[in-house]
Amino acid sequence: MHPVVKQHVIYAMDKNSKPSMTVDNGAVITVETFDCFENQIKTEDQPFHQLDWNKINPATGPIFINDAEPGDILAVTIEKIQLIGKATMLTGPGLGVLGDELTNNTIRRLPILNDKLIFASDIAIPLNKMIGVIGTAPAGDPISCGTPDAHGGNMDCKEIKEGVTLFLPVNVSGALLALGDVHAAMADGEVSVSGAEMASQVTIRLQVVKNKKWPTPSLISEDKIITIASAPTLDDASRIATKNMVQLLVDTSTITATDAIMLLSLAGDLRICQVVDPNKTVRMELPLQYWSENPFL
Ligand code: CA
Ligand code: CA
Repeated sequence: MHPVVKQHVIYAMDKNSKPSMTVDNGAVITVETFDCFENQIKTEDQPFHQLDWNKINPATGPIFINDAEPGDILAVTIEKIQLIGKATMLTGPGLGVLGDELTNNTIRRLPILNDKLIFASDIAIPLNKMIGVIGTAPAGDPISCGTPDAHGGNMDCKEIKEGVTLFLPVNVSGALLALGDVHAAMADGEVSVSGAEMASQVTIRLQVVKNKKWPTPSLISEDKIITIASAPTLDDASRIATKNMVQLLVDTSTITATDAIMLLSLAGDLRICQVVDPNKTVRMELPLQYWSENPFL
């Protein structure tokens, strides 16, 4: 049994937050998370105005990792995501991409059956369990857990899932990792403003990496490497994600920057993660086959 981080939550990633747990470098821990509404929604007819909107996007933590110092990188391997209960999702006026066309708030409570999310009697969606909010404390001012940025945060990247190792910057001693906003399923864009929001237990392995210049946030899965970037516009986020992948290629192989840019034009997929949060998030994906060996070694 791993140490379990209970549902002690924060609403901003903040260097001054008191750690909810301290663990050693190399630890495997299980983190209990609320859904992004802090489990407030129990029924589909619950009035929106009864929700406490200050309790949105809680992240469990922060977790202080011994030996993590500013300039290091925190490698977070996601070993297991266990979903708890039913999924909740919503949309309404002013929310999401088409919020200007909606006149009513709508809540859905969706069951999970045989590894599928049951959206309607004739629509079952394969699960795509992923973590929406995961990040470390920034060096400067606190950043709301609803906002993605260079520290990670509300990236809503559907590739942050079981089996991958996510690399995050260490900006302050102990890193102060926090996570939440797990989804049973979510598509690129998250256009309604929510995925299939779930309470969960997430098991992660934490490793501090010293003396590396890898771009962050980034991740490695069994078949690809991804750089993730968030910015006020998709254009800016696209530039950062692409530039970070070019830099990783140049730093870890013999390719030139010009060739790396052309390689990405041929084999690197630039994809939208989400367009509904205070910053927009995109990712650049490149299959592992374009490196002769794992660049994160
Ligand atoms: Ca989110
Ligand atoms: Ca969410």
